[in-house]
Amino acid sequence: MRRSVLLIVSGPSGAGKDTVIERLREIEPDLAYCVTYTTRPPRHYEIDGVHYRFTTRDAFEKMVHTGEFLETFEYAGNLYGTPRGFVEDALQQRRDLILKPEVNGARALKVVYPEAVLVFLTAPSTEELARRLERRRADAPTEIDQRLHIAHEEYDALAQFEYRIINDDITRAVDDLRSILVAERLKVARLSGRSG
Ligand code: 5GP
Repeated sequence: MRRSVLLIVSGPSGAGKDTVIERLREIEPDLAYCVTYTTRPPRHYEIDGVHYRFTTRDAFEKMVHTGEFLETFEYAGNLYGTPRGFVEDALQQRRDLILKPEVNGARALKVVYPEAVLVFLTAPSTEELARRLERRRADAPTEIDQRLHIAHEEYDALAQFEYRIINDDITRAVDDLRSILVAERLKVARLSGRSG
């Protein structure tokens, strides 16, 4: 049995991570997706347990103390964290797994799991990123500015990633991500159980 592919899709908020991952999961139904925890209030379309596990800062901090997260990061004033249990279970069951942390989380996960595959998803330009964040109507204008500011810092992390996908066409972006998944599944090192 081959080892799991741990696919980490990161990049600026508004690049389209959620949509690309959602489409990939439709065509790859066995791919496990890790729902992460956040202290951010839900957006109008978000469902607890589907988009995030929404929690309070107090409850989140308790989970930090009991070692329930693989990594946590404070992004735009809210805490986000990857639950250890879900990831460990999926890997133990040899399931392929996809995660979508911001870039600091991606780097932290790569330290824990050196075989993880880091994919950076971007919008075609900063202007387009701004348009997408505005079109989404999910965040207040000050929050959008904050996200764009963070995006500039996130671009600096690109060199630490293995793949880059420019999301100017959703179908192609999903195809690109699927190609990476398929190629990683075929790696000899993964087939023989060595880290890939
Ligand atoms: P948003 O508020 O837009 O849903 O998320 C803000 C950023 O945090 C996005 O880049 C999102 O991908 C990222 N994010 C979501 N869950 C986690 C997590 O568990 N850890 C980290 N480090 N980032 C996360």
